[in-house]
Formats: sequence, C-alpha cells, structure tokens
Amino acid sequence: MPVAWLNAVSGSDIDTAGGKGASLGELRGAGLPVPSAFIVTADTYRTFIDEAGIAEDLFEAVDVDSEDSTALASAEQRARELIMNTEWPDPVRETILDAYGDFGDDPFVAVRSSATAEDLPDASFAGQQETFLNVDREDLLDRIKRCWGSLFTQRAIYYRDEQGFDHEAVDIAVVVQRMVDAEKSGVMFTSHPSTGDAEIVVEGAWGLGEAVVSGSVSPDNYIIDKESGEIEDVTVTTKKTKCVRDAATGETVEKAVDEARRDERVLDGAELDELRRVGRLVEEHYGDPQDVEWAIVDGDVFMLQSRPITTIDESTNGAASQNGDSDGEILVSGLGASPGTVSGRVRSVGKLDHLDAVTDGDVIVAEMTTPDMVPAMKRAAAIVTDEGGMTSHAAIVSRELGVPAVIGAESATATLADDQYVTVDGDRGTVVDGAATEAELRDGESPSAESGGAGGSAGAAGSGQANAPKPMTATEVKVNVSIPEAAERAAASGADGVGLLRIEHMVLSLGKTPGKYVADHGERAFRQEIIDGIRTVAEAFYPRPVRARTLDAPTDEFRQLEGGEDEPTEHNPMLGYRGIRRSLDKPAVFELQLEAVRRLHEMGYDNVELMFPLVTDAEDVLRAKSHMQNVGIDPDKRRWGVMIETPASALSIEEIVDAGVDFVSFGTNDLTQYTLAVDRNNSNVADRYDELHPAVQTLLTDVIETCRASDVDTSICGQAASKPAMVQSLVNAGITSLSPNVDAVRDVQHEVKRVEQKLLVETVR
Ligand code: PEP
Ligand code: MG
Repeated sequence: MPVAWLNAVSGSDIDTAGGKGASLGELRGAGLPVPSAFIVTADTYRTFIDEAGIAEDLFEAVDVDSEDSTALASAEQRARELIMNTEWPDPVRETILDAYGDFGDDPFVAVRSSATAEDLPDASFAGQQETFLNVDREDLLDRIKRCWGSLFTQRAIYYRDEQGFDHEAVDIAVVVQRMVDAEKSGVMFTSHPSTGDAEIVVEGAWGLGEAVVSGSVSPDNYIIDKESGEIEDVTVTTKKTKCVRDAATGETVEKAVDEARRDERVLDGAELDELRRVGRLVEEHYGDPQDVEWAIVDGDVFMLQSRPITTIDESTNGAASQNGDSDGEILVSGLGASPGTVSGRVRSVGKLDHLDAVTDGDVIVAEMTTPDMVPAMKRAAAIVTDEGGMTSHAAIVSRELGVPAVIGAESATATLADDQYVTVDGDRGTVVDGAATEAELRDGESPSAESGGAGGSAGAAGSGQANAPKPMTATEVKVNVSIPEAAERAAASGADGVGLLRIEHMVLSLGKTPGKYVADHGERAFRQEIIDGIRTVAEAFYPRPVRARTLDAPTDEFRQLEGGEDEPTEHNPMLGYRGIRRSLDKPAVFELQLEAVRRLHEMGYDNVELMFPLVTDAEDVLRAKSHMQNVGIDPDKRRWGVMIETPASALSIEEIVDAGVDFVSFGTNDLTQYTLAVDRNNSNVADRYDELHPAVQTLLTDVIETCRASDVDTSICGQAASKPAMVQSLVNAGITSLSPNVDAVRDVQHEVKRVEQKLLVETVR
C-alpha cells in the first residue's frame, strides 16, 4: 500500500514508516493523543524511483567525492531534478489524495520527511530533511516529492558519505499530519525543569503554540503534584497577543487578544488533569522527563512534540581523584581558568615537541599553549601554564574541552618536574603536591588509567552544573565555541545555539597566516578549511543557529605563525590592525571566509549566521555588507549582524540598525577595554578592568533600548555573559540572548530563569 495510517504503524516499522513515522505510531499506540496522520511509505518512494527508471541515474548522480564542493552542488541539483520532473503514477497519486480526503474538509497538513535511517544510534539524520507546514491539497503532492528530494541535499549526501552509509540503503517515508488549530496551547515539563522534582510544570496561552515557544507572550504557569494531581501553584499573566493561523494563507500570524480574555486563566482543573495524565504517560513511555508541546482544540488535548529535558553529565574528567581538599603543599598558583579538580602526573611540553609523550590523564605543563597542542590537550587530565589570561588560547580551549586548567602560574615549568604527581584545582587556581586521596597512592593505581583523560567528553563539573534538567527561559542562553573539536560537548550543554564561533582558532591551528596558507595551498584549500571547521559546529547544533564571526586575530597572534614575519609591528595590537578593519583592507581573505559561509548555506546549513567584529560605525557595516553581496549572500535573506565592542559603534547604533543588521552582540571584553582605556591583557591595570562599570552599562542598556524599538536582536558574547550581575542587568534591560562559555551555560540558564521569574512576579503584583 502506498500509504499507511498512523494507528497501523508501530515503533518497529522504521523500514516502512521511517524513524519519525514509526515513533509517532508508537506514541499513538501507547494511547497518547497524537493528531491523526498517514504515512506515504518508504516503499512508495522506492517503487516510484524504480518504476520510473530513475534509480540508477539518481545514485550515479550522487556518487561524488563529497569533499569536492562543486561536485556536491551539482549532485544535489541533478538528484532533485530527477525526482521533481518525474510524473506521479496515477494509482499512487489517487491513493494519497484519497487518504488526504479522509481528513474531511480539506484541512491544512504538515508534511514531514521521515528517513528510514533516522534516529538510529550513530546515524542521526533528524533535521536534515525537509518539513513543510500549512500545506493544502493543491501543494500536497509537490511537497511530498520535495521531501523525497531532500534526501539528496548536499548536507545529507556529505553526512552519509562521512558516516559510511550507502546512499541506496536509506529510504524515505513522508508523514502527512493534520495541523491542529489550537484554541490554547503551550509546553509541559513532565518533571520540574529546574529541580527535577516530581512536579509537572505547565505553561499555557491563547492560540497556537508559537507564541509560547518563541517567548513573545508570558504564559500562565501551573505547578501540579505529579502523583496526587493537586494544583500547587497558579500564576495567571496578562496575555496581550496570540498566534493564529490566517484562514486565507495558512500562515501563522500574531493578533491582539480581546481585552476581556487577557487576564483570564487559560486552563481549568479538568484540562490540567488531562495534561497530567498525558505527561505521566509520555514520561513513562520514554523513561525520562520530557518537554512536551501540547494544544487543546474543542476541549481535546493533543501532543505535538516531545523531547527529553536536556541534562548535563556531572562526571568530571579526572575521575581518579576529585577531592579538591588535598592538603599537599601548594607548588604554584595562577588563574583558575577552567573548573574542576584532578590529579595526575606532570608532563612538561615545549612549544612543538614532547606532545606525543602526553598520555591519557597527564597534567600538561607548558609556558603557554599553541593551537597545535589541541590533540594533546584533549588527552590531558589538566593543563597548567606559565603565561596567559582568561581569554588566552589555553584558557578558552581548556574550558571548551572541559579540562581543568590553571593559567598564568608564572613558574610552573620551572617548579613542576616531569612525572611528579600533583593535584590541579581549576577553581582555586592552585597546583598542590600529591594526590587528592591518599588511598589511590597507597594502592599504587595509575591515575591515568582511571581518569581516562579528557577525551573531549562531558567534562568537569563547574560550580552549579548539577545533574538537573535544563531550565526553560524566554531569554535564550547560547554558548561560545572556538574550536570545532568542542562542538559536540557544547551542543550537549542544552544551549540555544552558538552566540560566537571564533574562526581565528581554526586559522591559528593551520600554523600559517591566512596569506601564507593561501600562497602555499591556494584559495580553495583555505576556504575548505573554514567550511570544514564551521560545518562541524553547524552540524552538531543543527537547527540551532550558529554565529560565525569573521577573523579577528590581532597581529601579535598571527606573528607566532609561519608567515608571521610579514605582520606589521604594532605598538598596541589591541588598537591596531584586526577585526573588520583588516578584513576591509584585505578583502581577498575576507571574501574567502564569506564564500565559505555561502557554500555552507548552499549545502543546507541554513543555521549559519555571519557576524562582523570590531566595527567602528555604520560605514564599516555597509562595506562589510557589500562584500557579502559580492560573494552572493543576500543580506535580506540570511541572518547577519555585528559585534558592538567599540564605544563608537555603541554610540552609532541607530545608523547601524538602519544598515540592516538582524542582530548585534556585545563583545564586552573589548568594549570594556576601549571604554575604560584599560588594556584587557595588562596585569598592571587589571584591577581597573570592570565590565560592570556604569559607563559600560550605560552603553549596553542604551543599545538594547534602541535595538528593541527596531526589532533587532541583542546578545552578549564577552566573558561577562557569565557574571550574575551582568545577567541580571541585561535580562532586565530586555536582551534577547546571552552567550557564555560552555562551563557557565547551566549557571547562566538558572540565573536567567531567576531574573525572569522575578520580572513575571512583579507584573502580577
Ligand atoms: C569580546 O570582545 O568580548 C569578544 C567576545 O571578542 P574577543 O574576546 O574574541 O575579542
Ligand atoms: Mg572582541
């Protein structure tokens, strides 16, 4: 049969219904109220391509070298043409339209791809294929074919190649599901999202769920005892707007709520009871607390989507010894740059040598780290350096890898001897003699064997990163990423996207300045390096947005690289040839980065956004924009923005908004140094460096106010995004998102939730 109804499908039917179809069928089978749907089975797709005689051409077309981006682009185009240009066999067309007719009065439906390898372990294709909402009878058949075609996007071809999946072994089913025209809707956490307690938290508002999910309305909040069903707490808010489906176009539009209903309670006792019943069933079904999107139509509760509430693994890298209270002698101390406490044997490494000698669980001791040390840093249990500050390479990379680190310990290389057993405390910034627990030393156990090294895995437990579910916040909490190797860990933090992806770390790891790299290997190779680096992060986060920032390395950092001898000598590199200034002056290297982003868009990574650093005024922004256009990126279609990190740019915000940016992001590391005239790397004036200084705060809040008036998103990606006082002031001012380092994501989520709840309580008092 070309189609199968949801109630005839179960969880084991992945081969015919695809991953999504099978899991919807299973939920329906478990008695959950999933809106009705039928599935255009995988066999239908297979028969279509076989009987039309296009299968051979199709698989030949996509059999390309996936590292060759031009070949990949033509493979996608050819495959899609073959599918879209082939006529439907009459019986299949009829069966699908008949099934649609069974929904009754020609309703809008959602058409979702459901690949047969989707959601299998190690083969997460979810999100790679298309979904179309608000589809009517006229467009139905076209959208189904487009779903089939989306099996051959560049991204999907590349991904299957990389994972070793045969293109022919993956089929695709399509779910056609009735869209629910909700009177009320919202989200439900089947266990308390902050504490994990046995309480169901429901948020609800009028109309479609988009308003609640996007945070454009403050929903009512209900807390219910999961066992007894007792309603423990109800907060009724003022709901000024709602989302509804426009009857003519099917598009979701925002509308004002009638005056009389604004302060009315959304959910009554019976509806909450039904939601609790559904919540318990879903949680029982999956065995984990779930975050469920629900809707109510004519008194019936529907479940639209369910996903686990993200949690962070609490384990620490150096499991051998995590007791931070070792009373050994303090050998050296410095900046606690990456949290966690761990013991291991010292391995001193020079600039380029001795890296192979670093084995799992060693403590790397170096003057400073360089980008080529990253593989060894991944194996290490901890890192200690003589030099560097909180924004140095060593500090950033260890935080991202979750490896405890003490930075700027001055005499570490002179004091610590190879093979000496030490305990590194990345919170306090100390290195003490011996292990954290005597027992392990007595047993003669190798700490490395137990700790297993960092391996880029879950990482050290930062203060407050308890194993609790992710709190839901209206203000987004994103994460900063600098090295692609850290992408998976950052994505697992539950962050809402990447607020800053620093490209310069990718370039520094090439060991050559961009000019030298292009001279030696060609433009194409340079562009491919950038594509590969960003793609790793965009893939790990898809479909969450990733803001890739164009190069912003100062000349003193480039000087360490091959080709660095050609860098200008500058009296103060922080005020010199860096950021957008250098890019506009050397547009060739700039446009290669922009082309890399354009290629990623073409490959389907529509979550990649561009961000320009260190702009002075609107002229810089307009010039950068015209380079985007030069390489074929349409600034009206793709999201892009700039960093606000010079006082001049903060004071020119109106003109910068007029230049067409979608967002701005505060680089408070720089904005503070330029506003206060305090070099961020100069320890003589470090006591004057204060991101919370009223002068800096005024610039931040004024920019937020102007941007809010023009619907331009605001964010912060400087180090101060993790300071509670900064979080409070910016959330109160109405910032759209915050982007801290990965170790601070969970703490910031909780702080944001606290501030938002306070704001909410104040509105109802
Ligand atoms: C900043 O200046 O705050 C920022 C995030 O950019 P960077 O630290 O890379 O200069
Ligand atoms: Mg900066």
